[in-house]
Amino acid sequence: SAGPTAPDEATLEIAGRRIGGGAFATIAGPCTVETREQTLEAARGLAAAGVQLFRGGAYKPRSSPYSFQGLGRDGLAILAEAKAETGLPIVTELTDVRDVEAVTAVADVVQVGARNMQNYPLLTEIGRSGTPVLVKRGLAATIDELLLAAEYVLAEGNRDVLLCERGIRTYETATRFTLDIAAIPVLKQRTSLPVVVDPSHAAGRRDLVLPLSLAAAAAGADGIIVEAHPRPEEALCDGPQQLPVDTFAAYLRQVEAAAALA
Ligand code: PEP
Ligand code: MN
Repeated sequence: SAGPTAPDEATLEIAGRRIGGGAFATIAGPCTVETREQTLEAARGLAAAGVQLFRGGAYKPRSSPYSFQGLGRDGLAILAEAKAETGLPIVTELTDVRDVEAVTAVADVVQVGARNMQNYPLLTEIGRSGTPVLVKRGLAATIDELLLAAEYVLAEGNRDVLLCERGIRTYETATRFTLDIAAIPVLKQRTSLPVVVDPSHAAGRRDLVLPLSLAAAAAGADGIIVEAHPRPEEALCDGPQQLPVDTFAAYLRQVEAAAALA
């Protein structure tokens, strides 16, 4: 952002990548680590497109117990390989306190998913680990509840917290969730923590990812977390919302231009 930095705006530095305090960062990657080839292909393409961090789930909090649940430890090993090859820091979700050590051994940022935003033991354990954390807003959580969830991490002395607006439940069915744009300036008034927006899960459809990303950047978001897959039509999870990796550079140029004006 070209604007002056508010004195109390926190800048996080994650493996040399800055986010917050005027630095706009893009986190991108597939919803899920499906195979070694799919993940490495995504990481290579997204590194070339200029993203700052790579995302991908090894542990997936699926709504149905019969859906693909992720590769678990094998998925973490694939993420480690993607980082070794591309240098991109890794953002990946932790769903269970029993996996804290395994996930923090690989993750540069641990993601707390919307479904776990009020899993207080999980937040406390991540706080104790000292690993930076991205806390996603619960599906039906208020802004106050999101801030209190982040407080569980902060209370353990871990200051490296990113807040994520990813859409909330409303009566609207045209989109998967409803992106709460107002949450961005409200959160930035209420806290110094960087605010990241997830347009992919909010929209549920790839044609809306660019407009929601532009809106987020214009509203002052410090970054975005976006799903991208080498072949979205083959994705095991969230295919309709994932951007094809080969279109990502063009998408990112537009979002970064909007962020620079904010
Ligand atoms: C995800 O990032 O893949 C995810 C499951 O997101 P959320 O927890 O916001 O639904
Ligand atoms: Mn997903």
